[in-house]
Amino acid sequence: MQFNAPRGTNDILPPASLKWQYIEKITRELFADYNYEEIRTPIFEYTELFQRGIGEVTDIVEKEMYTFEDKGGRSITLRPEGTASVIRSFLENKIYGQAQPTKYYYIGPMFRYERPQSGRFRQFHQLGVEAVGSNDPALDAEIISLGMRFLLKFGLEDLSLHLNSVGCKSCRPKYVDVLKDYLIKNRDLLCDDCKSRIERNPLRVLDCKNERCHSVINDAPKIVDHLCGECDEHFSSVQEYLDILKIDYNINPKLVRGLDYYTNTAFEIKDSSLGAQNTVFGGGRYNGLAEEVGGKDIPGIGFALGIERLLLSIEAQNIELPVEKGIDLYITVIGENAKKEAFRLNDLLRNTGFKTDIDYLNRSVRSQMKSADRMNADYTIILGEDELKNDSATIRNMKTGDEKSIKLSSLIEEMKQLVYGEEKQDE
Ligand code: ATP
Ligand code: MG
Repeated sequence: MQFNAPRGTNDILPPASLKWQYIEKITRELFADYNYEEIRTPIFEYTELFQRGIGEVTDIVEKEMYTFEDKGGRSITLRPEGTASVIRSFLENKIYGQAQPTKYYYIGPMFRYERPQSGRFRQFHQLGVEAVGSNDPALDAEIISLGMRFLLKFGLEDLSLHLNSVGCKSCRPKYVDVLKDYLIKNRDLLCDDCKSRIERNPLRVLDCKNERCHSVINDAPKIVDHLCGECDEHFSSVQEYLDILKIDYNINPKLVRGLDYYTNTAFEIKDSSLGAQNTVFGGGRYNGLAEEVGGKDIPGIGFALGIERLLLSIEAQNIELPVEKGIDLYITVIGENAKKEAFRLNDLLRNTGFKTDIDYLNRSVRSQMKSADRMNADYTIILGEDELKNDSATIRNMKTGDEKSIKLSSLIEEMKQLVYGEEKQDE
């Protein structure tokens, strides 16, 4: 019997895992520059958190959650996204009692029961940021610029930033009424999904992907024309701050987050070189969320990016990430005595900070050299009875073919010279 990984999940094997490590490294470095700190929340939460935190009338809650009852009879859900958990933790740990804003980032797996296809999986990975405790539009611009800069770090091009405002508790309902009237008038031109959305959540019609609805959507009243004074000012201010940073954006009236607690800024970054799933990441303000999940009225803004989709973008744009698989030295062994000495030296080298390896299958010298090649070793050394007896061995540079005769007892010093000496010259 052979097992397969569940549908919609992936093993991330080397060398691909090196790319993942690289992305995570860039994330941690760049986000630290912006003074965001890592938060790690549980992979599962009580189901109700997501029902309230994401909203009942959403694809995620209606169709996509991995929900089960645990042995204690509690309803548990594997997290489909990160924001609800972060806000739950912020409230539970009374972080609001500290100096604000609080700036967190997270990286980890998310779970959604979706139809697997390119860029869409059941276990996928997001990295995201949340800035909680301030309604300053400059913070919106900071978050957007962080997202843009993150993507630029990988050398991505053809990115477009889409920006919109979804108003607030006081102005959005008025807009929704106007939109609803319009949609009712054009009902016959809409797809079946959208027909049912008119009553349940008319904003969702605006991001319908069905061709059929496009003409109706394109001529729909725009929310930015219906913002209250405060929201209008916030939106202008975000744009002003983006202008200061020379970040281009398109105002996209179709970009909405169809939930009550999303407020003001909504944004997405799209990669025009990708196909259907071309949104690399999205985010926005959620000033009403903390209240919705049982807490205080605390503003927040964040974004989440799908790592699998980032990798697709990187691939589509033929970008080689600077990841290098390889070791410093492979020790080729001939004979039992040499093996023991090689085993000891291998340990010593590693403890000194070198990446090294030896054979564990008692293979021929030829096969061992092949292994060295496969491991992308910079250097090899052959150890046999003679080398031990004479305290002398030959180090071979695998790239250039150059060989150097050394005293075995000074192997560490020689390696330092070869590896670090070279690096200095490279600089
Ligand atoms: P989509 O419109 O593609 O379904 P979404 O609105 O559901 O996206 P968000 O909830 O905003 O996506 O999640 C943020 C990011 O997470 C997306 O932009 C995407 O990069 C990634 N993402 C979402 N769902 C999946 C999935 N099932 N598989 C892989 N990546 C995903
Ligand atoms: Mg989705």
